[in-house]
Amino acid sequence: MEPIRMVDLVNQYTQIKEEVKAEIDKVLDSAMFINGPAVHDFQGALQEYLSVKHVIPCANGTDALQVIMMAHNFPKGSEVLVPSYTYVATVEVIALLGLKPVFVEVCPKSFNIDIADLDNKITSESVAIVPVHLYGQCARMEELMKIAEEHSLKVFEDTAQAIGASYTFSNGSTQKAGTIGHAGATSFFPSKNLGAYGDGGAIMTNDDELASKIRMIVNHGQSKRYYHDSIGVNSRLDSLQAAILKVKLKYLDGYNKSRYEVASFYSSHFQEVEWLTTPFESPFSNHVYHQYTLKLADGINRDELIAYLTDLGIPSMIYYPVPNHLQKAYTSYGYKVGDLQVTEDLCSRVFSLPIHSEFKPEQLEFIQHSVKAFKGMH
Ligand SMILES: *Cc1c(COP(=O)(O)O)cnc(C)c1O
Repeated sequence: MEPIRMVDLVNQYTQIKEEVKAEIDKVLDSAMFINGPAVHDFQGALQEYLSVKHVIPCANGTDALQVIMMAHNFPKGSEVLVPSYTYVATVEVIALLGLKPVFVEVCPKSFNIDIADLDNKITSESVAIVPVHLYGQCARMEELMKIAEEHSLKVFEDTAQAIGASYTFSNGSTQKAGTIGHAGATSFFPSKNLGAYGDGGAIMTNDDELASKIRMIVNHGQSKRYYHDSIGVNSRLDSLQAAILKVKLKYLDGYNKSRYEVASFYSSHFQEVEWLTTPFESPFSNHVYHQYTLKLADGINRDELIAYLTDLGIPSMIYYPVPNHLQKAYTSYGYKVGDLQVTEDLCSRVFSLPIHSEFKPEQLEFIQHSVKAFKGMH
């Protein structure tokens, strides 16, 4: 059996090697490494795929979030509502810009922002909400947008884990994750569902004015060459990455479908296991399974389980062991243990298995069999 990987980018590349190499060669031959035609082409293709007016490519997903917030020029100390249960980048940019992260609970089933707690935590200082479509499934965007509208708050979707997911509104209409709020940010980190061969990111919006501000900010706040109207950053997607991403975008739906099939396989085997809770699939969003994350019952020793699987050659991960409100870097915001009980409980019991688009059936069989055998052996 081939070694099991958390993410298998080697076998994925093998299948598209010729196509990718041809596109890389075009960039090399043109020597247009920065803002070359490949960037423009990819931007157009992603706009079309997402049915969004503007895609602004940038250097990574963290920059995408930061630039969106820079474009709004919120007064220092303004409050931004964000789940604590997310990758640190979502919170980091809020803090970096001198804004105040207000940590919101998540729903214990979906792992996404809890609407009731969100509503409770809105104050006169609130300016924005950053829902995170965690593990590949959309947050409750319809309710969230309604609350945002009532309080005149901006909504910036962190879509780093959910590119290609779509949300179904109660009237039956659908929209792609990242295009529902005022702006969305995504990441093309290699292990993301649409991954580059290096860093990359993008901002999505349907707002023309916001798009032009963002375009300026990612390019040193420049309105025309050597005229700088605002303080900006240097954040670009390079042409090589854009060329690679344009090839991979064609396969994204296929990759997401394969991930879904893997998740369905796992869940069909783990459903009956009393010490495992399989991922919840919401009726209003499809799931693109950036992660396949199980919850362990009380009394199951997670470290032992991980060590046992590691010994068998099965990698696994904890996303995330420490919630952001309890991270050392964010102690100045005054949170303590017990402030977000659902979040803290999840961090103590979640556990993610390998998921990607390149499994061999025997690998999946081995994983499901090994996981199920754990309890009898401990
Ligand atoms: C990966 C990720 C980011 C950051 O993306 P980078 O491209 O690594 O900067 C932000 N938010 C979430 C939820 C992520 O998973």
